[in-house]
Amino acid sequence: MNKQLLQWVHAWRRSRWLLLALLAAGALAAWARPVPAAPPEPAQLPAFRILLFSRTEGYRHAAIPAAIAAIKGLGSEEGFAVDSTEDAAMFSDIGLAPYAAVVFLMTTGDVLDESQQAAFERYIAAGGGYAGIHSASDTEYGWPWYGGLVGAYFANHPRGTQRATILVENRLHPSTADLPLQWQRTDEWYNFQTNPRARVQVLARLDETTYNGGTMGADHPIAWYHAYAGGRAWYTAGGHSSASYSEELFLAHILGGIRYAAGVAPAEPSTPTSTPTATNTPPTLPVTTPTPSATPTATGVAGAPPQRPQLWLPLTRR
Ligand SMILES: [Zn+2]
Repeated sequence: MNKQLLQWVHAWRRSRWLLLALLAAGALAAWARPVPAAPPEPAQLPAFRILLFSRTEGYRHAAIPAAIAAIKGLGSEEGFAVDSTEDAAMFSDIGLAPYAAVVFLMTTGDVLDESQQAAFERYIAAGGGYAGIHSASDTEYGWPWYGGLVGAYFANHPRGTQRATILVENRLHPSTADLPLQWQRTDEWYNFQTNPRARVQVLARLDETTYNGGTMGADHPIAWYHAYAGGRAWYTAGGHSSASYSEELFLAHILGGIRYAAGVAPAEPSTPTSTPTATNTPPTLPVTTPTPSATPTATGVAGAPPQRPQLWLPLTRR
């Protein structure tokens, strides 16, 4: 073996150990490298944020804490953020900016001053959402814009809570999609100063023959929605008792109302002029019915998907 060859062999023997050492180090580094954390998925982020406002300047419902807890639970389950406050100072342009909807949760009386009212009007005009629950209609009698937003002011209620039947007129809305056509539940049943039907899209009405103390007759709206002053408004008169906020169907009703108000679920207006089918036999109504002009308008009828079941129960059905 000549000298040159010997030098080459020695060089290879040295370098192969170096090569093996490098390979081993690389394998160790690969093994020891931490798995990179997955980026947060969009579904984990709150889809939207709502504000629960439960200030009372009149009657204060004992159910307010249960209602707040239940709606925060809905937010946790459904992936939206829920803040709650009784501080009217939140009603400013900056204070309301984070929220897709504001829920007046059993508010009573005069809860906002004029500048706060103006901020809330601007919030709705900019496309904000409002959901009113129970005594939200027993609120701000001196603010006509608010009266239009909620749809009708509270008038009175018979004593206590009673079991009654709610006739669900439209199950195309997210707040009523899960409800039976005849929804029996126990609550304190409000009478209103006016029938809101001409101004809003009624979702459900009370059957006054199933409880005592109703004063609105055959057409007693109890839950509704409407586009209003640039934004969206939804109202339900139920929710007096803490027990309401443990009812699966009532919570589904509220969740749908919040989702509509927040603008994440469309209202899907139904067609009020079609003939009822045999599958949605409406309850018997007294002969006295509202005038045709008081029935909801049929705007958007052309866009209604023909394959959807028609669940509207016209008031003209006897
Ligand atoms: Zn009440």
